Amino acid sequence: MTQLIILDRDGVINQDSDQFIKSEDEFIPLPGSLQAIARLYKAGYKVIVATNQSGIYRRLFSLDTLHAMHNKLQSLLEPLGAKIEAFYFCPHGPDDDCNCRKPLPGMIHKIAQDYQLSTDELSEVYVVGDSLRDLDAGMAAGTKTALVKTGKGIRSLKKIADEHLTQYQSVPVYNDLADFTEHFLNNKS
Ligand SMILES: [Mg+2]
Ligand SMILES: [Zn+2]
Repeated sequence: MTQLIILDRDGVINQDSDQFIKSEDEFIPLPGSLQAIARLYKAGYKVIVATNQSGIYRRLFSLDTLHAMHNKLQSLLEPLGAKIEAFYFCPHGPDDDCNCRKPLPGMIHKIAQDYQLSTDELSEVYVVGDSLRDLDAGMAAGTKTALVKTGKGIRSLKKIADEHLTQYQSVPVYNDLADFTEHFLNNKS
């Protein structure tokens, strides 16, 4: 069985910004995230990125720049002996009416289709994100979900508390991707 982990990008792997990550230079890994991906990879997991990139729709950066950011991530992982299995991204905007923009589960459905995961298998896959829309997409697709406090994570937790959002009650919360990975791999062995 293919073992996958699906990660949001901005705020989970790299620093996020409310002004969008628009260039290769602005793509800066969060502390410990590359090592965490390497640990997952070496434990036999295919690490897949699923990310909303409406900056494309907003013309803040080009598709070429997006690919350059992803190549940068791959080249940073290479010395650690790891790689991202695949990048799935939604280039659309909020009014485009697409089915891939999280909170919708389109990207996760596509991943499940591409990797031929059954519903049962998908239910064992973690979607790790810093925003509620990441969790929503995972829940809608029937995956497990985890929230990290990096990026918009603290803001997401505050929203859950302030608005008494009970649907996230059982979602585990981790300091960062490294913390998630530590717990995840320990529970597997
Ligand atoms: Mg994010
Ligand atoms: Zn889309």
